[in-house]
Parts: sequence; structure tokens; C-alpha cells
Amino acid sequence: MNILVINAGSSSLKYQMIEMTQQKVIAKGAVERIGIDGSSLAHTPEGKDKVVIQQPIPDHKVAIQLVLSALTDKDHGVISSMDEISAVGHRVVHGAEFFSDSVLIDEKVLDAIKECCELAPLHNPANLMGIDACKEIMSDTPMVAVFDTAFHQTMGKNAYLYGLAYEAYSKYRIRRYGFHGTSHKYISQRYAELVGKDIKDLKIITCHLGNGSSITAVDGGKSVDTTMGFTPLEGLVMGTRSGDIDPAIVPYLMDKMKMSLDQTINYLNKECGVYGISGVSSDFRDLFAAMDSGNDRAKTAIDVFCYRITKFIGSYAAAMGGVDAILFTAGIGENNGIIREKCVESLGFLGIKLDNEKNNTRGKELRISSDDSKVDVWCVPTNEELMIAMDTFELCK
Ligand code: ADP
Repeated sequence: MNILVINAGSSSLKYQMIEMTQQKVIAKGAVERIGIDGSSLAHTPEGKDKVVIQQPIPDHKVAIQLVLSALTDKDHGVISSMDEISAVGHRVVHGAEFFSDSVLIDEKVLDAIKECCELAPLHNPANLMGIDACKEIMSDTPMVAVFDTAFHQTMGKNAYLYGLAYEAYSKYRIRRYGFHGTSHKYISQRYAELVGKDIKDLKIITCHLGNGSSITAVDGGKSVDTTMGFTPLEGLVMGTRSGDIDPAIVPYLMDKMKMSLDQTINYLNKECGVYGISGVSSDFRDLFAAMDSGNDRAKTAIDVFCYRITKFIGSYAAAMGGVDAILFTAGIGENNGIIREKCVESLGFLGIKLDNEKNNTRGKELRISSDDSKVDVWCVPTNEELMIAMDTFELCK
């Protein structure tokens, strides 16, 4: 059974074709610059060279058509016809309170996804364009929506309500939703599988540290708290996002920097975080290089980033009344032992101890805590596409 996984953005569309009996990626690629000059498809079939096709791609429908012809091409294709695609799994960013799990897409589901557009105006409309395009071209193939927010729908009111007047929630749906759910779910389940334990018996803290970063408290397999909130701007200090700030800073900044509201939101999303603090880069490889050549602000940015992570790990251990495992994933979490060490170095009082040699590892599933650590610390590379394919498979088999 082959599942096509689609992650549609407003001008891009990433895809993976996954063969489910072996859970293996047989082709992947991305369409870039949809509707913009210079659009292209980069397609990589498993075990063969990447093929780049440059042609005008005015909309998502043409993008999907191009992906399907690449997948069925006699030279660089991996299937002989579209009939070999059993189902399509779509990443959808926001499912609000409508969806606490992945669902088969029908008209009612589409209407609910549309209703979530005002909560994720940059993402949901693009995700819908991907779904509509697939439905038009592959009308008989079942489609599944997998939401970034769904895993966090198990949070209790204590965790998801802000200290705002209740009407903010009851009238305007303002609450904490959380994001990166597919990743947090995947790595927590994968960890339980790797150590051969029932996830129901585990208290896990999952740290997804990439360009966007978030931490989740997973108690018995359920998300009970997470750092991102109403939008992905809340929580940790990220590549270019500020994370938590005092809301009174917003009007103060608007006044001091003579910015409009839109400019201020853009500033908080794109000009802040470790990029804004360091003035160097949002990429930790650049930050370490700058720090090593004596740049103090780069060092400060790394310190601020790690300190906030430490605080959330501590608070989530408190929220769950203990912690059995801490998991690191995504670009930074999977690749950078120094960051991982800095995040847990003051948590010895919780019984956390790293194995320095193992912590030097990159991009592998590996226990990085020492044998006498009371808490397991692991690197578990994330695989959101596989998680989407697994959910799609379950709903369509
Ligand atoms: P996203 O999917 O959120 O765009 P990723 O999970 O791909 O992000 O993470 C990207 C980030 O990972 C980069 O900005 C970079 O800071 C970090 N990264 C990747 N490799 C390394 C490395 N070897 N050392 C430190 N950071 C790294």
C-alpha cells in the first residue's frame, strides 16, 4: 500500500510517497514558487538521482499534476499508475477544537477546516488548496487530514485557558492550541516502542527544537501541556520568533519603533528570537561559529535559548509530578549535543545525567543519558511524514 503525503504551503508543496508494508519512502520532492516566476519541481526517487523540472506552475492543481506525472514517469517514476496510490494524507496546521485526531476528509471536514482559517490565516488556506487540487485530480482516492493541533486537544482547561476574561475563549476561541503535534506524538510513541514500554505508563517531555521550537508534556501518551499557544509565536525563544513576552511590550514597541500592528507581528515572528538577540543568524551553526570567534551576543542568544528550555522542562516535570524521559528532536535537538547538554545541565536535582560520549551523536535514535541517570534522555529523530502516513493508513485500510 502506497500513501502519498502532502504538505501544501501557499507557494510550495512538499510530498513523500511512502510504501507502508516496509514504512519506506520511495520518492520525495517539493514544488517551489507556485504562482511565482521561476517555479520548479525537484523530485527524488529512492535510489536514483534528483530530477529538477522547471516550468510555469500557476496553481496547486498544476503542481499536483506535475507531482503525479513525476511519480508515474517511465524513467524517474516509482509507480506505474495513479491507481497504485491507495490514499493521500494531508498535513493541516489548524483543527481548533473540531479535531482531536486525524480524519477522513469529507465535505463536513472541509467546512470545519475552512472555519479554522481565521485562526491560521497563513497556513489553513494553503493546506485547503492542496486538498482541493488532489480531490479534483484523484477524486476516487481517499484523503485524510492530519492536524498539527490535534495531539494537544487532550490538554485540560487548566493548561489551555489563558488568564483572560472567559469571553475571550467562549466568544472568540482564544485559548492555547499548541502545534508540532504530529512530531511530539511521533517521537513519544517511537520512544515507548524503542524501550519496549507501554506509553500509558510513561511521563515524557518532548523537545522539538528546529527553526520553530516547542516542548510538550506527554503523560500516559497524551499531551497535557505544550509551549506554543494560540499561535506558534508563544513559548520558547526560537530562530526568529520571540516566544513568550509581556503583552504590554506590543504597544510600547509600536510607539517606540513607529510600527503598525502588522509590522509589529511581523517583527515578533521574523526579526526576534536568537536571530534578533545575536544580530548574526537564526541558524545555530552560525551562532556557534560566531561565539567561537568571540561574539558575545551570539553566546547570549544561545544562553537565552537554552535557559528557557530548562525552565519549561522543569515546569513540565512539576506539571506531571515527575518525568521518566526527555526526548530531543528536529534540526537542533537531533544534531547539537552542546545545546542538549546546556538544556539539562542544571537538572541534576531531577536525577538527569548525560553520557558525554553518547551525547556527541547526531541524527540517530540513541539514549544519551548515562546508565545511572534516573531519567532517560534520548535523541529521537522526528518523522512527521511517516506519522501522517501511518494515520492515513489506519483510517483507510
Ligand atoms: P524547521 O523544520 O522548523 O524549519 P529544522 O528542524 O530543519 O527546522 O531545524 C533547522 C535548524 O536546525 C537550523 O536553523 C539550525 O539552527 C539547526 N541545525 C541543523 N543542523 C545543525 C547542527 N549540526 N548544529 C546545530 N544546529 C543545527
